[in-house]
Amino acid sequence: MADDATGSSAVLSIQGEQQQETGRVRASDEDVDLYVDGVSDEVLACRERGRHLFPTIRQAGIHFNGVDRDGMLLRRLVCTCCNLAVKVEKWEGVRAGGRTRFRRVASNLEYRTGNDGEVYLAPSGRGHMTPRQIGDSVASKALAGQTLTALRKAATKAAAEAAAEKAAADKAAGEKAATRAAARTAAKPAAKPAVKAPAKAAAKTPAKSGAAAGKARTTRARSAKGTS
Ligand SMILES: [Zn+2]
Repeated sequence: MADDATGSSAVLSIQGEQQQETGRVRASDEDVDLYVDGVSDEVLACRERGRHLFPTIRQAGIHFNGVDRDGMLLRRLVCTCCNLAVKVEKWEGVRAGGRTRFRRVASNLEYRTGNDGEVYLAPSGRGHMTPRQIGDSVASKALAGQTLTALRKAATKAAAEAAAEKAAADKAAGEKAATRAAARTAAKPAAKPAVKAPAKAAAKTPAKSGAAAGKARTTRARSAKGTS
């Protein structure tokens, strides 16, 4: 018979629960603001994106810049955006059937110091910065000095203007279509006996393809991940 003794050991302490919720320690808003002030727009772009932009193999070509102790070929790529992140790849070549097949077996990210002494990483011990925190900080700086009331008012106005613009465009399109239809009716040729078209030409009317209409459209719903 099973008892519920295992249940008690699975209960986390309050500290344990908190650690599980947040995972890594997050940097404070103040530290993020300080960081955002000290780095370039390019670094902020990579931070906000949460991803560096490394060139593809076709773009950069495949060149090796070193060999490690295990004989692996080393390839280094610098982020085309921030210019500070370096992707270090290890490649190996395996002979098979008279040909050599190359494989990337490892990839590692390093950061270098920029020419003007710029660094990518924030001082250690301040916690982890998420792309969202960076975005929030950049946005808060951009909106500094504006009141929430004024922003709401402006946003509501923008929505009303967009709706009015769309309504006007719809109306104009409707009127245009009506005018065109009226013109077609008026321009009907005066009753003149039409020359009989040869039967052969009439039979060659192409059948309308229904392929385009049959395409199914898939919509992927993406749920925004809500974190605390
Ligand atoms: Zn980058």
